[in-house]
Amino acid sequence: MSSSTNGLSPRRFDQLLDALRDAAGREHVLHHPQDLLLYEYDGSVSRRMPDVVVLPETAEQIAVVVRIAGRYDLPIVARGSGTSLSGAAVPREGGIVVSTSRMNRILEMDFRDARAIVEPGVVNLNLTRAAMAGGFNYLPDPSSEKACSIGGNVALNAGGPHTIAWGVTTNHVTGLEFVTADGRIVRTGTLAPETSGYDLTGLLVGSEGTLGIVTRIAVRLVHLLESVRTMLVAFDTVDTASAAVSEIIARGIVPTSLELMDQICVRAISKWMPSANLPQDADAILIIEVEGVEDGLEQTAAEIAAICTDSGPLEVRRAATAAERDSLWAARKGTFGAIGVLAPNYYVQDGVVPRSRLPEVLRQVYEIGTKYGLEIANVFHAGDGNIHPLILFDDAEPGALERVHAAGTEILRVCIAAGGTLTGEHGLGMEKNEQLPELLDPADIAAMIAVRDVFSPARLFNPSKIFPLPLSARRPVAETAVAGPTA
Ligand SMILES: Cc1cc2nc3c(=O)[nH]c(=O)nc-3n(C[C@H](O)[C@H](O)[C@H](O)COP(=O)(O)OP(=O)(O)OC[C@H]3O[C@@H](n4cnc5c(N)ncnc54)[C@H](O)[C@@H]3O)c2cc1C
Repeated sequence: MSSSTNGLSPRRFDQLLDALRDAAGREHVLHHPQDLLLYEYDGSVSRRMPDVVVLPETAEQIAVVVRIAGRYDLPIVARGSGTSLSGAAVPREGGIVVSTSRMNRILEMDFRDARAIVEPGVVNLNLTRAAMAGGFNYLPDPSSEKACSIGGNVALNAGGPHTIAWGVTTNHVTGLEFVTADGRIVRTGTLAPETSGYDLTGLLVGSEGTLGIVTRIAVRLVHLLESVRTMLVAFDTVDTASAAVSEIIARGIVPTSLELMDQICVRAISKWMPSANLPQDADAILIIEVEGVEDGLEQTAAEIAAICTDSGPLEVRRAATAAERDSLWAARKGTFGAIGVLAPNYYVQDGVVPRSRLPEVLRQVYEIGTKYGLEIANVFHAGDGNIHPLILFDDAEPGALERVHAAGTEILRVCIAAGGTLTGEHGLGMEKNEQLPELLDPADIAAMIAVRDVFSPARLFNPSKIFPLPLSARRPVAETAVAGPTA
């Protein structure tokens, strides 16, 4: 029997396909290897092919698919746009992948109450644009906004370049609808900002698809802000740039964005997008943005420029027009892609450290690169201390991936030692789950697993993720029906 059918006999697999076709329609069930290839990876370096992919159109169809997964004892993994950088969307134990790409409707735009309700497959930027058409904004703007889905953002609690001021996805979600492990459709929260009873919305956000499949999302919108000032400041060392970041915050200024990119990123962007016209002699560039009412904004921008000038920058440049601002953001948000001009592959880490520790942590990151013979580029949300070391490598080189993983693990150890954590926005997925015990006590992890097991005793939803193996692996449905949740 082929392992790719997850222990099912060919006959039983055919029965499974029939059941799924009845649920979602024949053309929305994929099982030929060439069709499954697209679903074996996400934006990380992890791979695993699902046994079957279903593309439902409604929550009711998903509920039926979940019940089928339970009957066949099969893992079930939701998938938005597959841009996750932690292996979160890779079906680590095979099974059924539920793609939400057909559930991409904006169901309600309510500008009077500044709320929207969307299906999970809606692309982040499409929601932002729809909000902007009414003079509003949907604030979470991950750099992958052109591709990633709101469902994926919810599952990973996505952040972005404006997190320092506007928070992460959880700060903008007021209610959810999701399908439970026994195939019920449940609603949490409300359209109002506050909720009654347990905050299940807050629990679901960031749960990496392990508690249920989200089928509707209510989000808050905000009025478009009156004015914005965007500047680029170039420094001759990463240390000086990091010190400027700390100084800005220490003076009580909260920019809406404080992004740092190092010389390697500047090199990549300059090749990929020469029109960005980034200073070539800089070892580090900050992109700083302030947004709000016009009154006083210029003063804040000038104050930031003065703080940077005190550090002896190579250049302080203001975006004079909307087009110049767009160009700066296109450069920043395109950095991961631009890295492709320097190396065939990259592996991105996502640690968080206290801002004040940034200079020493970055120094150690570069040292780890030297130790493993790997070039490491850094582009990150400096205002939140959320670093994204990009480890460049060539997958065709024997042993390269092992060195990359070892370097990534060491980098996260440095973050933990500096009082930080393992993820700021990409989730733990299947790449950092084994490191969780380096951060949390066994009792903390056991408490989380107990919660998970209440939602899905057999751990069919996205098994072998977040927590170390075997604590996170799926368990036979029959056993859990008797045993119930355990930690
Ligand atoms: C170039 C690039 C830049 C990026 N920049 C950022 C950034 O600035 N900030 C940031 O936070 N991330 C960033 N990311 C990472 C990624 O885009 C985000 O994590 C995003 O939230 C993933 O959305 P997705 O639709 O691609 O989800 P997927 O990758 O498809 O899935 C991610 C997780 O969500 C779960 N999931 C998806 N849909 C549902 C659902 N309906 N119900 C339950 N679970 C579900 C999946 O099971 C999986 O665990 C970047 C990625 C790339 C490639």
